[in-house]
Amino acid sequence: MSGAPARVLGRRCFRCGAGTGRGLFSQRFARIEGGSVLDGYQVVACERCGTAFADGVPEQAALDRYYRELSKYENPVTAGVESPADGERFAEVARELVPFVPPHARILEIGCAGGGLLAALRDLGLPDVHGVDPSSACAAAAVRNHGLEARAGTLWDTGHPPGSFDLVVLIAVLEHLRDVGRAMRALRAMLRPGGLLHLEVPDATRFAEFAEAPYQQFSVEHLNYFSPASLAGLAAAHGFSPVASWRAVREVGRQSREPVVAATFRLSDRPPDAPDDVDGPRALETYIALSAQREAPLRRRAEAIAGRGEPLLVWSVGTQALRLVANTALGEAPIVAFVDSNPRYVGKSVRGRPIVSPNDLAGRLEPILIASTNYEREILSTIRERLRLGNDVLTLAGDGS
Ligand SMILES: [Zn+2]
Repeated sequence: MSGAPARVLGRRCFRCGAGTGRGLFSQRFARIEGGSVLDGYQVVACERCGTAFADGVPEQAALDRYYRELSKYENPVTAGVESPADGERFAEVARELVPFVPPHARILEIGCAGGGLLAALRDLGLPDVHGVDPSSACAAAAVRNHGLEARAGTLWDTGHPPGSFDLVVLIAVLEHLRDVGRAMRALRAMLRPGGLLHLEVPDATRFAEFAEAPYQQFSVEHLNYFSPASLAGLAAAHGFSPVASWRAVREVGRQSREPVVAATFRLSDRPPDAPDDVDGPRALETYIALSAQREAPLRRRAEAIAGRGEPLLVWSVGTQALRLVANTALGEAPIVAFVDSNPRYVGKSVRGRPIVSPNDLAGRLEPILIASTNYEREILSTIRERLRLGNDVLTLAGDGS
């Protein structure tokens, strides 16, 4: 793959502005009709600086609409209250960040979801915290559950006057954006002179080390694949000097671990030069090769399942399921319905088959395929213990219990 010729990109490199890159991988998904913002993209590395990102993605306005209207981060079941594991993760992020923040700093978090991180910062003695989130239900949960000042808004329109903050925080946001350069200019404008910017993104140099489902990092939402070098380079290109940078592993959900790079920067007149990204694209190639290896048995499994010719329920419309439906024999299986616990997806469809809620399964006799490696145990326990269903269960690994 290293020998792939450079080609003209539809999306310019957000770090250096170059318009050519090298293709690393072509990702493709089945669409959630009325619920997907994209059905695939090319993973590319900038020819000039090595920064890796997805090309062939929708305009930022379409992404903004998706996060406003189809947010999967709202959880009506728990009314936006974070789980104990989420609480621990927010406390960990807050503890790491606090040493760099002056005590009376006015802080804004963009993409604050239910407000868990801001509440953790407040608990550590930083009272002047504010949040915005594209989902008004998330912002309302932050107000209701934590008594925070939070509002519906985006990077492009926070509802706060320019130059209002000493620190702006974005955790797991930058990898979701198409217009990254425009975002960095907007972030600059939010800060007071000498203000701080704290960013945390998945660390592409460690995708292989923490690989779960194949190609999972090339998800239906992640459009940029940062390394410590490309993150520092992006910041430098927009007038930010490094203050501190570290690597961490975040527990996401019960069974998933995400390697991240976290970095704090200061607004500066003379940011340092940052090196090109060599490690990022190389590590992505390793991850892609590993994913191909791990997907081979799943392809054979999909063929075996489709070969049964038997009507089937497929549980999950996540990244892995949508990839398998688009790229393996699972797409030819007689799927009668998809099942997902996220109420945002219920009532929509994939390839004309309805997405139903777990509560709609009573009385259905078809076998259920759990099409998620990461959540297999949780889904199995929902089927057997909460719903008490006796349906045959198939897993991606083999016949389940
Ligand atoms: Zn570049």
